[in-house]
Amino acid sequence: MNVRAAILAGALLVPGVAASAEPPLNKAGEALYERWPSIRVSSPTPSTFRHAELEKALEALAAKYPGLFETVTTATSNEGRKIRLLRAGTGPRKVLLWTQMHGDEPTGTSAILDLLSDLGVRSGEPDTKELLSSLTLYVIPMLNPDGSERFVRWNAQGIDINRDALALASPEARFLKSVRDAHEPYVGYNLHNQFNRVTAGGTGGPVSLAVLSVPFDEAFTASPGRTLTKRLAVAIQDLLAPYTKDTFARYKTDYTARAFGDSMTRWGTPTLLIEAGFLPGPGAEEQLVRLYWVARRGSLQLLARGQGRLGSVKEARYDAIPLNTEGRLYDVILRDLMVVNGRGLAPYPASIALLRGNRRVDGDGRGGAYVREVGDLAEFATPEPSPAVSGLYAAPAPGGDAEGWPAVLDGLAARGLVTEEGALRLKAEDLTKEVAAWAGKSILEPGYGGDLLLFRTTREGGLVLDAFVRKGKLETAPRR
Ligand SMILES: [Zn+2]
Repeated sequence: MNVRAAILAGALLVPGVAASAEPPLNKAGEALYERWPSIRVSSPTPSTFRHAELEKALEALAAKYPGLFETVTTATSNEGRKIRLLRAGTGPRKVLLWTQMHGDEPTGTSAILDLLSDLGVRSGEPDTKELLSSLTLYVIPMLNPDGSERFVRWNAQGIDINRDALALASPEARFLKSVRDAHEPYVGYNLHNQFNRVTAGGTGGPVSLAVLSVPFDEAFTASPGRTLTKRLAVAIQDLLAPYTKDTFARYKTDYTARAFGDSMTRWGTPTLLIEAGFLPGPGAEEQLVRLYWVARRGSLQLLARGQGRLGSVKEARYDAIPLNTEGRLYDVILRDLMVVNGRGLAPYPASIALLRGNRRVDGDGRGGAYVREVGDLAEFATPEPSPAVSGLYAAPAPGGDAEGWPAVLDGLAARGLVTEEGALRLKAEDLTKEVAAWAGKSILEPGYGGDLLLFRTTREGGLVLDAFVRKGKLETAPRR
């Protein structure tokens, strides 16, 4: 064997040896997941965590773990809030992480606090030492503190910082760009929360976490940098495999020249986008932080270990990660109703899909809910169970809201159409006429944003108001 062959053989052997000596990534992910409660300092509700609390949390961490990290430089937001660039570690490879450039996307900021806490709590452990001696972490937590204060996407100028990478009209964008240019990190982590009504491909569940090896051109051209971020994305899929089965996705996007991830990659800092998505049930916000933390802590360790470990991750698997897919989820589906829409048509069987106001669009979630579709909705799902309303009659509320109902009921009572128990002496076919009278122009069809009234039939053949649907939520009607 000549020298060259020996080197090649050695090079081929090393990843195999390393892989067999270490647990598979799903086991590493489980270990991290189990560790999180012991290192966690983040708020249980990141969506209410503001800049002043971030400053306090950073001060507390700095006091508890002197020397763990330092503030390298700062910038000032439009409204005078301090934006910090933190540095931890002394390694030759520089990694840049920034969070909450969209003010209403808070998960990444909380996970950063847990990342710093972990490095402090476990400073003596070999993996921490490896990380901090191989990498230098540059971290901007909460790039958009003004938007975070109002919990809106944009900054105080109304500018989306993630569309300001070229114009640099905002102080936040200028800061991010200046940090990249000053330190030239070899990889970037761009941390967001995404639209919550997408599924992992055509058959998966609501997406819990999505990743993207951010392109630097329209053609999504391959490059060593994109190979690195694709491998990171696949590694994160493996790390989270025990927790995100069927809910892990690839972010679907076009190349966006004015966005930061795309520009960073083009400027020479290949960037991985991580988007926290949706989890059902209580505690979802902190559970997202936990998954996010596992993704980030686990993948940083792989970067610290270098090509031997990350190089064994198959880049080609990236393309097999299911894409974020829209159009299969509604917030609420009221199934199998008899609809009386207000146009004087006889009641007809249909299901009704509602979308709640989109936080990402209306800023603070006050948007209520509106009808998106009426008809056959058998193919559609909801992230959380919808109320069971099968067989009820659905009608638009008088004037669109529940306030109008008592007056209508009084009017019906005056005409002798209401029983002692409050039931309507109306047959379903009579309901058609009454609804047409009280609905006016509030027709129950796509776009309708008012309340719904749900009636059930009584044993005597009358109708009784069973519930209101208000802002997408079922409220049992008060007894009269
Ligand atoms: Zn975002």
